[in-house]
Amino acid sequence: MKKFIVLILLLLPALACSQTPKSSPSTDSTKGNTPEKFFANPVDGESQLDSLIRTAQNDLAKFWQSYSKPSKVASYSRSEAELGNVRTPCGTLTPNNAIFCPEERSVYYDRDFLNDLSRYYGDYAPVTVIAHEWGHLIQWQKYGQGNAERDTIEKEQEADCLAGAYTNYADQVSQLLEVGDYEEAAKTMYKLGDNLDWFDSQAHGSPELRVAAFTRGAFNGAESCWGYTAANSFPSSAPNNIDPSPTPKVNRINPTPTKSVLLDYSSYRCNTQPSTPFYAGLDVEVITDVNLPLRLRAKPDMDNLSSVYITSYHQGTKMRIIDGPACSDNVVWWLVKVEDGKKGWIAEGDGSEYFIEPVN
Ligand SMILES: [Zn+2]
Repeated sequence: MKKFIVLILLLLPALACSQTPKSSPSTDSTKGNTPEKFFANPVDGESQLDSLIRTAQNDLAKFWQSYSKPSKVASYSRSEAELGNVRTPCGTLTPNNAIFCPEERSVYYDRDFLNDLSRYYGDYAPVTVIAHEWGHLIQWQKYGQGNAERDTIEKEQEADCLAGAYTNYADQVSQLLEVGDYEEAAKTMYKLGDNLDWFDSQAHGSPELRVAAFTRGAFNGAESCWGYTAANSFPSSAPNNIDPSPTPKVNRINPTPTKSVLLDYSSYRCNTQPSTPFYAGLDVEVITDVNLPLRLRAKPDMDNLSSVYITSYHQGTKMRIIDGPACSDNVVWWLVKVEDGKKGWIAEGDGSEYFIEPVN
């Protein structure tokens, strides 16, 4: 249990570092028996983790060769962090964490934490984390200062996707992966998922969404990652009149994971709902009864926690669908941007009546 609390706090966004509890995770898991190619060339005095990260960095630099490398990739110990001794331009680092610091284009990681991940999930787990942080570096280069304006969840999902894209490269091109590495990455992503509200400043996505993002990158390449969030990728809910995969798959390559990391999308289906007539990009208007305003929520479910409600809107309010659909509680949900600028999730209807209709 303690272990899980620690893990969900990994990868706090660089500008939103917060205190995390101390930890001393159990070390009952065992390492795989297979000699790992990532450890192939340890140099004198180098730890296994150092060798792994060094090899991963060299390979990540090849994969992202059209972008600049991080200015540095620095490790610290958990105890240094616990003492508050690790200071960066992005603030004092917390233990059990890895961050990308945009101010100096650097990555910092808690080596004790990555060693724990390696023990729990296998040697590819730390590489997954470094590849994710490297993904943040690429985002800052690609989007420039505009990256600061993007929602955390969008950046995090995209970074997971980019970590997946790199993993495919490490497998197919560099041939560094061993049996089980895809599964180790998927397990790591799953364990690092959180249950924060969609727009929470530290939200990285649920376990399922993180695995979905990673899997997308692994199967479809980095070009499929830009602007991606898992919520816009539920194929079973695509409207009938829209091609569910209209975007050409760039860099499509065929990884051969040793065990499937594919998600079972059936859990996202709204089986008893009619197929939705809405889609991302559509402008819609609230048509609920005047006494029943439509609730805007921070995440796509019927949770009654007051924190989930952002606000509500009356009949006639206009909004644009920007992402989705998602399904939970047998309801089809859409992420919308309202005319007042607020963003959140709305239910499209209750199964018998729609709450919105397209604006003509
Ligand atoms: Zn991140």
